[in-house]
Amino acid sequence: MLRFFGRGSAFREDQNCAYFVQDHRLILMDCAMYGFHEVKKTGLLGFGEEIREITILVTHTHGDHTGGIPMLIHYAFYVLHVPVTVIAPSEEVREDLKYLLERLEGCAPAGYRLFSAEELMKAVDRADGVDDSDPELPACPWLVRPILTQHAPELSGRCFGYQLTLDGKNVIYTGDSNTLEPFLPYLTEGSVLYTETASMESPVHFPVKKLLELETYFKEKNIQVYLMHLDDEEAIMKQVEGTGFLPAPLAGDEKQGEKDMQNNNMQDNNMQEKDVQESGKILTNIFDISDKLYREMCSNKENDHATLFAYLTELGRTMTDSDRASFWKWDRRKKQLWTTSATGVDRIVIPDNTGLVGKALMEKRVVVTNDPYNDPNFNSAVDKKTGYVTKSVLVMPVANIYGDFIGAFQIINKNGDGGFDEVEDVRKLSLAALICGIALESETFLEDSHHDKLTKQKNRMGFYSDFARKYSKLLEAGRPISMYISDIDKFKRVNDTYGHNAGDVVLSTVAETMAAACTENDCVYRWGGEEFIMIMTDTTLEQCIEKAEKIRETIQQTPCDAEGTIINVTMSFGCRQFDKEMSIEDNISIADGFLYIAKESGRNRVIYKEPEA
Ligand code: GH3
Ligand code: MG
Ligand code: MG
Repeated sequence: MLRFFGRGSAFREDQNCAYFVQDHRLILMDCAMYGFHEVKKTGLLGFGEEIREITILVTHTHGDHTGGIPMLIHYAFYVLHVPVTVIAPSEEVREDLKYLLERLEGCAPAGYRLFSAEELMKAVDRADGVDDSDPELPACPWLVRPILTQHAPELSGRCFGYQLTLDGKNVIYTGDSNTLEPFLPYLTEGSVLYTETASMESPVHFPVKKLLELETYFKEKNIQVYLMHLDDEEAIMKQVEGTGFLPAPLAGDEKQGEKDMQNNNMQDNNMQEKDVQESGKILTNIFDISDKLYREMCSNKENDHATLFAYLTELGRTMTDSDRASFWKWDRRKKQLWTTSATGVDRIVIPDNTGLVGKALMEKRVVVTNDPYNDPNFNSAVDKKTGYVTKSVLVMPVANIYGDFIGAFQIINKNGDGGFDEVEDVRKLSLAALICGIALESETFLEDSHHDKLTKQKNRMGFYSDFARKYSKLLEAGRPISMYISDIDKFKRVNDTYGHNAGDVVLSTVAETMAAACTENDCVYRWGGEEFIMIMTDTTLEQCIEKAEKIRETIQQTPCDAEGTIINVTMSFGCRQFDKEMSIEDNISIADGFLYIAKESGRNRVIYKEPEA
């Protein structure tokens, strides 16, 4: 059945967005902006199974709905690394969306596919019992039909609800509609209806008064009614009291949330039993997360620590029953603290002696505040930027195996009344914090092993890791990537003449020159000895040659100062644009061939093709 990230109208904070999960796909309906923000906040966690694709079932094209679509595509492509399928209810809406998405920069074409419900339904013609579905089209066995409805006048003919089959039941989802008329023919005995309901009278929404007129009709047909798009939840729930109409179940509700609600009064009399249920629920969530964590570690795809930290912070958040959690890494060299998984904002970097996290690390102890706005160490900048209100904070410093503090776990806003308890919440957080410490330590170790100590650039291991994680995906998506391989000319002579230490200075200087020439698309690697590779994404061969030529000149003109001895060196280059049909090694070997030609034909030059016969 459907769950909801939010069930409010466009004017409330929790805006209507329904979802369900099938075959490792997260299907979002309506997909208001709120759905995007929720996915950004929780990632692909907590859906009961691994999510490998996101599908958006569009109802209509109001800005608050469609605005979330490109943002979600962008986020899914660059951060979550899952493809997005957008399903428009009609050809006309599909054309609108095609126009919109194609013109938005950053909405990577490789990140999404767009279909109309009609073409998907046509593709699966089961009438003759033969499955002649087109393998190019995503299978959507749950999709029965879009249903045209009435909403705001400007959306005339372009606003839809859906009929679906979920868990063997006939499901009707109205989307935005000022009438239930178009749905009545499809509301068969025993159906589940998710309908919009408004307490405010307006020509564009379905008023609760009219819904109440249908109460007997729904009862007779045994139709379960869930209410969504609520403009004033309290007022509506009061009006439907005793009808059996329920508010649409929110993401955080338990599977049996509906029943719980009916039994609420009884349970209130028995707080203890409720507590037991509550801890059972938390324990189930913890097991779900640790199970995912384990499977993530065991999967054969190259693991990204960011994903592990996201699961671990989610684990800490769940264990302490708090609203948000973030893990901060301490970069002692740069005297910085940074996090990526904090509050839905991108990477945050702060000086290591500031804020509550800084305090916890400097003082090597847990820091708790349940009145942050009156705490001089609390930095309210993020709240100001995002509109979030922090009410309570607990920071727990995290150490490596030698007891050196290397980061900190922060949890924010304890759910329910009261704030964090220094003893009890630390006890609950300890396991997640401990695993974070070990994960961070191994990440640091891995990071070190990908870097060359002398030149501070990435080494060959770093190169292969980046290729697997980044470059191969870009190549698959058809983006141009170029490279050069370069080698210092007559470097042995430098060592022989000035000594090995001077040779090291030359290597560092050359590496610095190359690193300084890198844009955000480029990265330089020490391939071995005095050989360096630069990878340039979104770069054609012509642009690569131009860049190599500039770097060659700069190196020639940059003196290396080895404790007062000035040494000048030159380098030779072989350039190549990657052919994605060939292996990495074969690509590099061709560039290496050009480097060899550069050496043979006099050194200090850039070669990118075989010489003319
Ligand atoms: P060519 O122009 O043909 O490339 O000549 P070359 O002398 O540069 O080439 P060769 O391969 O004969 O010599 C490379 C030298 O680089 C030999 C090796 O001792 C030196 N080398 C490799 N790694 C390091 C290092 O980390 N530090 C120093 N100082 N020298 C190194
Ligand atoms: Mg050399
Ligand atoms: Mg060499």
